[in-house]
Amino acid sequence: MTFAIHGLAVARGIAIGRAVLVASSRVDVAHYFIEASQVDAEIDRVRIGRNAVVDEIHRLQASVIHMGPKEAPHELIALLDVHLMLLQDDELIGGVKHWITDRLYNAEWALTTQLEVIARQFDEMEDEYLRERKADLEQITEKVLLAMQGEALSMVPPPKRAERKTSQQDLLLDDTVDVPLILIAHELSPADMLQFKQSVFAGFITDVGGKTSHTAIVARSMDIPAVVGARLSSQLVRQDDWVIIDGDAGVVVVDPSPIILAEYGFKQRQHELDRGRLTRLLHTPAVTLDGQKIELLANIEMPEDALGAIKAGAVGVGLFRSEFLFMGRQGKLPNEEEQYQAYRRAIEGMQGLPVTIRTVDVGADKPLDNALQDEAHLNPALGLRAIRWSLADPAMFLTQLRAILRAAAHGQANLLIPMLVHASEIRHTMALIDRARVELDNRGVAYGPVKIGAMIEIPAAALTLKVFLKYFDFLSIGTNDLIQYTLAIDRADESVAHLYDPLHPAVLRLVAGTIAECNAQGKHVSVCGEMAGDTSLTRLLLGMGLRSFSMHPAQILAVKQEVLRADAGKLALWAEQVMADDEPGLRIMKH
Ligand code: PEP
Ligand code: MG
Repeated sequence: MTFAIHGLAVARGIAIGRAVLVASSRVDVAHYFIEASQVDAEIDRVRIGRNAVVDEIHRLQASVIHMGPKEAPHELIALLDVHLMLLQDDELIGGVKHWITDRLYNAEWALTTQLEVIARQFDEMEDEYLRERKADLEQITEKVLLAMQGEALSMVPPPKRAERKTSQQDLLLDDTVDVPLILIAHELSPADMLQFKQSVFAGFITDVGGKTSHTAIVARSMDIPAVVGARLSSQLVRQDDWVIIDGDAGVVVVDPSPIILAEYGFKQRQHELDRGRLTRLLHTPAVTLDGQKIELLANIEMPEDALGAIKAGAVGVGLFRSEFLFMGRQGKLPNEEEQYQAYRRAIEGMQGLPVTIRTVDVGADKPLDNALQDEAHLNPALGLRAIRWSLADPAMFLTQLRAILRAAAHGQANLLIPMLVHASEIRHTMALIDRARVELDNRGVAYGPVKIGAMIEIPAAALTLKVFLKYFDFLSIGTNDLIQYTLAIDRADESVAHLYDPLHPAVLRLVAGTIAECNAQGKHVSVCGEMAGDTSLTRLLLGMGLRSFSMHPAQILAVKQEVLRADAGKLALWAEQVMADDEPGLRIMKH
């Protein structure tokens, strides 16, 4: 039966494919496609793993029976029987074989996929006793996975669900299967998303997350349709269901009828044609009708993204989110050499164009590692995040600063500092930059000049620009956080996503005030938050006097099209009217 789930539109376009539900096993499992010639070997791996668990249970049964009828706990005997029965269940075995043979999933992926299928059936059972057997099924599946990994089996009961690790870490796929696949998960961390950059997924759906959560940002950078905050999607959609993602409307259509499928197929082709047309603008300079030159820069997450930035016609990188180099490494941070090589690759990849490297911004919704997620702090977005984290660990920060300064010898590099708010933090940061230079001098290592900029992403910073203008060569407005902190709306929380409003008059006042002040002082200013890539806001930002926009490469041509149609002089008057409105959103819609 066809039904729709509404969420938040993250990345444009239409994706049509089969659902891949990421299993919630405690064991991190790899997901990849195998060759057809490996099918038998893969089925064998599962069989060997399963047999190991069966043997283990038999041994345990023997030792329990050995205790004698009085001591032998009846519950344990019954439980072991249930586990044996589940392990030998035809549906489990048949299903696993199906995923391996027909879909070429690797053994672990096949096992966790079939676990999801059967677990769903247990959830739907009326009988409470049977429903509760789902936990047993999860437990034995996990044991088989561990046995396949050659780890010791334990009969310890599973931890509560909340303590479970997600299993999305190693989802690296190749392109041996041609049915488009759509990944559905309750939650994906930014680091998980980064892993998926190498994958073949045609789209993403998550139950949780806001439009400017970092998970959504990475999904957008991949330029494939995605919907977040689609509440119960991971429960309502079944493994292998046909699913349509309408990334423009933020809608997920499940099990579509042939008519709906045809309609979305048409929309998908239309979308591709529109995008194709935009490529004609690739070499057109971004200049408004009244001759204002506009700088269109790229936001990147990894050095390799520089290629996409060049291909999209970016005239530089306005934001390299360096924290992605630090994530998913079990807390082991990259050393100076590794970072230097990464920054150098980004700089060289941009072929002489400027690259703005932002120092590490971890914390809040960007944990270093899923397993190390900061649950100890009540308010991580207000906690030890970004520059606060860096200043709390000067040795780590100096390592990064030295690496960036060294990389700057290979091209045009700018250094950008996130989340600053206090003059003392600014002075402390500047002192550490000086110290990094001295340390390199002492070691006799070459380094290059850098312009130093600050992100304006906390209202207090936007309201005390004087000190920022005194110390910094340029400013970059991080509207994602500026909105979050101005409106007290967690950018990653879908339950308040409807209140996350870039057009709130207070936000507009802070953005416009920062641009105006920088323009008056002759200081370079850019917007690098998601507002910069939102074509419905291009004219407003131009009207506010913005001349530098930094966004995902995929958005550059669409924004350029808006620029080419705009008359910046006329827009200045209109922008003033918008900002004087109680509800600026209404005027923007009418324009
Ligand atoms: C911002 O806050 O707008 C920004 C660009 O930084 P991030 O999204 O990484 O927090
Ligand atoms: Mg930010």
